[in-house]
Amino acid sequence: MKQEVLLKSESYFKSYIIILGYNVNIKNKRSKMDKILEMLKLQQQLNDSTNGLNWEDGITKNGKQINWRRCIYLEAAELVESYPWKHWKDIDASPDYENIKIEIVDIWHFVMSEALRIYKTQNLGSIDDIASMISTMVEFDTFSQNDSGELLDSYIQIELVEDMIATLFCQNDINTLVISFLTMSSKLNLKLPQLYQLYIGKNILNRFRQDHGYKEGTYIKVWNGLEDNVVMQKILNENSDILPDNLYKKLQESYPV
Ligand code: MG
Ligand code: MG
Repeated sequence: MKQEVLLKSESYFKSYIIILGYNVNIKNKRSKMDKILEMLKLQQQLNDSTNGLNWEDGITKNGKQINWRRCIYLEAAELVESYPWKHWKDIDASPDYENIKIEIVDIWHFVMSEALRIYKTQNLGSIDDIASMISTMVEFDTFSQNDSGELLDSYIQIELVEDMIATLFCQNDINTLVISFLTMSSKLNLKLPQLYQLYIGKNILNRFRQDHGYKEGTYIKVWNGLEDNVVMQKILNENSDILPDNLYKKLQESYPV
């Protein structure tokens, strides 16, 4: 009898642990998806303000045609240019790893814009639907991990960029494009945690500068001896999962006026 009770309580305990683990998993998945969602929302805002509402129809408020795919392949070319690919010039140079990250983030701006455009114009769903589409992709698992993988040979990295360019030109489907971006970014060692920091850092600092007299020339760039982007980097290092609005608030608190 005693034994039976013990067994029963043990199995309750086990299922409790399983439920607990399940919750942690769901929570992790949730916060990873939230990072995608936050970036999509910021990109929508950025496009609305720079191009005017209804930019999804393909024309800016100034009447200029928008072609996100063209933006993507030209940024991909900038990414290739970050490697010493030329056989006739600077043949012993190393890849510019800092710039490689920046170019991947540039590409990400445009991949998100293309997804936002297609989802809206083809009535495929809301911004939340895009975020959940991305976060349920098989390739998202590797992409959203924190660890960095092995450093691949430069020529293999360039080929990965070119695979994405090939997908861009040969496939019309937005999911396929997102998958090839996630694969490329993961293999070039820019995973979600760092991509998120670089993306929201750039977006929020730009907005903060605009809101504080950047255009008018009254913006203060050095805050108590530190440049604004150094201050922002410190905030990001201390709170790697910070939400965009909180980052803005923290910048506000540090701004010397
Ligand atoms: Mg550019
Ligand atoms: Mg660029």
